[in-house]
Amino acid sequence: MTSAPPVAYLSEVFASWQGEGSRAGQRQLFVRFAGCNIRCRWCDTPDSLTRVPYCRVDYPDGRNETFSNPLTLQTLAAIVEECCRLDSSIAMVAITGGEPMVQAEFLSLWLSQAPPPVGCLLETNALISQGLAAVLPGIEVVSADVKLPSNTGEDEPWDRHRTFLELCRGTELYVKMPVDQATASDEVARAAELVAAAAPGATLFVQPITEAVGPSWCIDQERLARLAAIASSHVRDTRVLPQIHKLIGIR
Ligand code: SF4
Repeated sequence: MTSAPPVAYLSEVFASWQGEGSRAGQRQLFVRFAGCNIRCRWCDTPDSLTRVPYCRVDYPDGRNETFSNPLTLQTLAAIVEECCRLDSSIAMVAITGGEPMVQAEFLSLWLSQAPPPVGCLLETNALISQGLAAVLPGIEVVSADVKLPSNTGEDEPWDRHRTFLELCRGTELYVKMPVDQATASDEVARAAELVAAAAPGATLFVQPITEAVGPSWCIDQERLARLAAIASSHVRDTRVLPQIHKLIGIR
């Protein structure tokens, strides 16, 4: 009996500059997986929350193509190969979503059987650890969010975040914490404490949330400074960084 070929649901593939975290400004190929396990109040990729029927690919030479979902591993590998060939400034593939770890089994097969020609950065909400051990050998950098309950409505994400971050030990990792005006101080303290314990040495980016259009800030300077001070009392390398791509109006 032959098993079904591995397939995945994606929403878009395009090249741009990374707008977040320690690789901000780097040219990357964004491979966006469709479907997410949570619903953040300020989700910035609402079109990728569910398994959409099509994936749009914008090639670096200006062509675009639409693929029906799900895509086979071979199709995705060929798209990534072609994009990297057309744009030699692409330094990394950003595996993003939605939440890519929802499709962890596909990820581990793709990265082991047909790895991209450049290193991979995994952008994740860091809540799904199942399958992570098989994915990590194909990942150079992990960009992990800590999702505060006031933003997601998730009950007690702490143990899930702890397990995920601890599994990432040995892989380059930075952590982002999106905050808005309503973010409670005790949530920030608890999250920063968790990062310090589970991912010692990792940089923590306090990320002021902006609305999708504008951009307009969802937090004022005074509150942002207060929350950053709380975070830095637990994590020595705490930085404040907005989403650069929204500031300069790119994807
Ligand atoms: S984890 Fe990401 S894709 Fe999922 S709801 Fe939050 S912001 Fe949106």
